[in-house]
Amino acid sequence: MTPTAYKQAAHTNSYEFTQGSGYQLPEYPFVPPPELGEARTRRHPIVIVGGGITGLTLACSLAKLGTPAILLDEDNTVGVKGASSRGICYTQKSLEIFQRLGLYDRIATKGIQWSVGRTFAGEDEVYSFDLRQQGGYNLSQQPPFINIQQFYIEGFLVERIAELGHVELRWQNRLTAFTQNADFATLTVETPAGSYVIEADHVIDATGSHSPLRQWLQVPFTSKRGDDRWCIADVRFTKRPPVERHTWVEAPFNENRAVWQHLMADDVWRIDYQMAPDSDPAHVSREDVVRERLSRQFGPDTEVEIVWVGPYAYRSECVHRMREGRVFFMGDSAKVVSPFGARGGNTGVADADNLAWKLAAVWRGRAHPALLESYGDERLEAAQQNVLVTNRTARFLRPADGVERLFRHAAIGLAKKHPFARTLMNTGRMAVANPYSRSRACTYAEGSAAGQSVQNVALRWANGSAGCVNELLNWAAGDLLLLVFGPLGRADLQRLKTLTGGAPLRAVQVPTGRERAQATEHVRDPDGHLRAACQLARPGWALVRPDGYLAASGAAFDGRLVAALERSLGLR
Ligand SMILES: Cc1cc2nc3c(=O)[nH]c(=O)nc-3n(C[C@H](O)[C@H](O)[C@H](O)COP(=O)(O)OP(=O)(O)OC[C@H]3O[C@@H](n4cnc5c(N)ncnc54)[C@H](O)[C@@H]3O)c2cc1C
Repeated sequence: MTPTAYKQAAHTNSYEFTQGSGYQLPEYPFVPPPELGEARTRRHPIVIVGGGITGLTLACSLAKLGTPAILLDEDNTVGVKGASSRGICYTQKSLEIFQRLGLYDRIATKGIQWSVGRTFAGEDEVYSFDLRQQGGYNLSQQPPFINIQQFYIEGFLVERIAELGHVELRWQNRLTAFTQNADFATLTVETPAGSYVIEADHVIDATGSHSPLRQWLQVPFTSKRGDDRWCIADVRFTKRPPVERHTWVEAPFNENRAVWQHLMADDVWRIDYQMAPDSDPAHVSREDVVRERLSRQFGPDTEVEIVWVGPYAYRSECVHRMREGRVFFMGDSAKVVSPFGARGGNTGVADADNLAWKLAAVWRGRAHPALLESYGDERLEAAQQNVLVTNRTARFLRPADGVERLFRHAAIGLAKKHPFARTLMNTGRMAVANPYSRSRACTYAEGSAAGQSVQNVALRWANGSAGCVNELLNWAAGDLLLLVFGPLGRADLQRLKTLTGGAPLRAVQVPTGRERAQATEHVRDPDGHLRAACQLARPGWALVRPDGYLAASGAAFDGRLVAALERSLGLR
């Protein structure tokens, strides 16, 4: 199928909010793949299996970088049929990624921005934060968080992929068997019109927490399941609570168990109630029981329209390695975390953003295939960190009897009286852009913030118009970006050219004062936000990757810059 034919076949998003029964999700057409009935077996450079938020983000990132791929999904829609949304909160880093991919405006128009969170224990507010007041959150072009139903983002990704071309989305294409050897992988795919076989250089497993690939390849992983039980009520109200994240460690209206309250798009509130460990899911989700629970929280006179009710339990899982031969694991197929802190989908998006530019660079012959190993270094560290952080929250919310319960009791008591103890209230540490501290693709040196995410801060283009880091990254079109802060003499320019000549790199000067720019490519940083985002204390250079992470920084134009460049391209 040609990309043009695909574009015509693709549907636009058409969600319909239907009162009382949740959402009607868009349905995408099944298009018979060209391989059906073909005698020869086609080889594809990249095959993504799974069209959830992770697989679709990867597909969109590859499309943006002009890299051909096909995506197989067994379903014909986004989201989960018959359910409401799983994910609701999306972090600044994810929003920055979506802006780079060209779908942020759709998300911002539909979603709800928030930055204030309040935690209660009993009748008392024990902790609050405003992310806009914290650190660098307010420097980015994107807000700290947007709440929106996960399927909207997935639908926007589908639309955007159709606009960009290069990637073919194959709905109702289910992976049923898989083998691999040193040269390629072989995938058997079932469709409503029969099955077919394809080969692939690289396969991405984005099939979620029940990954068949993980089972077939017998990938080792650690798994933990607790007895904590929750029940979501997605509702619409006549009254409007504040647009803030409210969490109760001990809610008097929920038998002193935890409760979450958040607004999403379409005026739908997610109220998530912790249940007794031995509770019966069928009972706690019965409409009369849910209504009774809601009326205890909001008062008997509040009119509530129930959009969806979903009881759930969670587990935590993490693979021991992110790659098995030609297969890369990402999103929930690599790790599963409890929902506290919104770390599941957001890290799936980050996994995808991390691998996309590396796959694209290798496919275009602009990086060595060894660069792909850094995906495992970086994203396994992130996965482990997210599992650790969410497990701590889970234990705070459902402490074991004995010392853990005593600690929590003491922590709540202290937090009510003393500000220093407020941070002990762990109702979910919100997801962040995970730093990479042990990546072979980053160059760690004293004073360098290598491995940290560079925020999407504002800057000025040479002609004075407003710009941002993402626009610079898009201009670099998948190559590395070398930002040179400060004056550049003729000799410096020559040296830079000699050192970096021929490398897949776009260099840009950022004068730090009022001096004239010497390099042809330059931007202005009038408020110093760009330099701050690269964490450079004084003039020097910063090597920024297409995923907005700092690969290295330094002061002099010497062999260290060349070494850092080589490391970022998998050449060392
Ligand atoms: C109650 C709850 C609240 C949450 N809240 C948040 C939140 O606020 N923020 C957040 O970031 N995360 C949140 N999460 C987590 C988030 O929903 C998941 O981490 C996310 O859905 C993982 O996305 P994924 O694309 O990796 O996997 P999935 O969404 O599971 O997608 C997998 C895809 O693979 C396809 N597939 C499976 N097998 C095959 C096959 N054999 N062949 C072809 N296709 C196949 C499926 O059809 C599906 O489309 C929440 C989760 C829950 C349960």
